[in-house]
Amino acid sequence: MISFLDLKKINQPYETAFQAKLKTVLENGWYILGKEVETFEKAFAEYCQSKYCIGTGNGLDALVLIFKGYIELGKLQKGDEVIVPANTYIASILAILQADLVPVLVEPKLETYNVNPELIQAKITSKTKAILAVHLYGQLVEMDQINQIAFQNNLIVVEDCAQSHGAKNNLKSTISNLQSATAYSFYPGKNLGCLGDGGAVVTNDEELSKVIYSLRNYGSQKKYHNEFQGVNSRLDELQAGFLNLKLPNLNTDNEKRRTIAKRYLAEIKNEKIVLPFWDFSDNHVFHLFVIRIENREKLQEYLAQNEIQTVIHYPIPPHKQKAFLDWNNLSFPITEKIHNEVLSLPISPVLTDEEVSFVIETLNKY
Ligand SMILES: *Cc1c(COP(=O)(O)O)cnc(C)c1O
Repeated sequence: MISFLDLKKINQPYETAFQAKLKTVLENGWYILGKEVETFEKAFAEYCQSKYCIGTGNGLDALVLIFKGYIELGKLQKGDEVIVPANTYIASILAILQADLVPVLVEPKLETYNVNPELIQAKITSKTKAILAVHLYGQLVEMDQINQIAFQNNLIVVEDCAQSHGAKNNLKSTISNLQSATAYSFYPGKNLGCLGDGGAVVTNDEELSKVIYSLRNYGSQKKYHNEFQGVNSRLDELQAGFLNLKLPNLNTDNEKRRTIAKRYLAEIKNEKIVLPFWDFSDNHVFHLFVIRIENREKLQEYLAQNEIQTVIHYPIPPHKQKAFLDWNNLSFPITEKIHNEVLSLPISPVLTDEEVSFVIETLNKY
């Protein structure tokens, strides 16, 4: 059986180190916002070539805290509109709503699954104040184009990097005075995952970083002095300890994913299957390898019979979810087509060459 994502195998090599880390944290006797979190925040900021990293309880909160931070700074106001891809994981949209902002959905490009920058301008109104760019499946969206639109319209740029850890970031574009921040998730299945929930905000904006340090901890920097109505969303010490052990291998892990993607792209030869677009740059970290096919349930069933596990990311688009009844009548044909046809093949740093070969052979026989 080839499992879609063997988390146990991914974490196995760290077992001894994890146990030693648990012992260290236990002996330190300091379990919230301690040395491990501080070390990780410093290391991850550096890894992202950014100035500040603020650990959070999860990726959704990282996004929410960015928006709330900008609201506290007076740079966003409740009711402002935020451009967001229609084709995304629901968390991107929920984050906007949780900060009392208004999501405005934009269709993707069928080839990249990411938002189509050409369609953004037409959705901008006098109420639009930010763009939430999402790098879906690990592929960076065209940030130069998005930053340009943001610059021309005086918009804040927030990036949902929950699936794109380590993708070559072009956030630091030629436009230096752009307001921007990025959000990460360390949910176990992400390219950098801990053994529970975790997340982070990464930014070069000192003012914003200070507000978020405070907001994540009840709105308090100094104990029992609350400057904001904050939340409790801190990266915990033990998870930060585990992440400190895994971060040094992130680039190697991403390279392994790209090696598998290269083989899939070169060797899967089946006219029924549409393979994902990739320009072979390090702008893609293949969090997921997503193909398209009509009647995907039939292929999924066939693969399952051949002991190959696949997953659908995602079966129902956000605007068709029961949670968003008001939007159910909206039409986003490209988003809907993607949601009807996608299937994610196994890809991970621990998938063996033999397993990759078997997936390819099996697909070519279909
Ligand atoms: C996983 C994910 C999130 C949320 O991260 P959590 O840590 O699960 O809260 C947000 N956006 C995208 C695109 C994701 O894949």
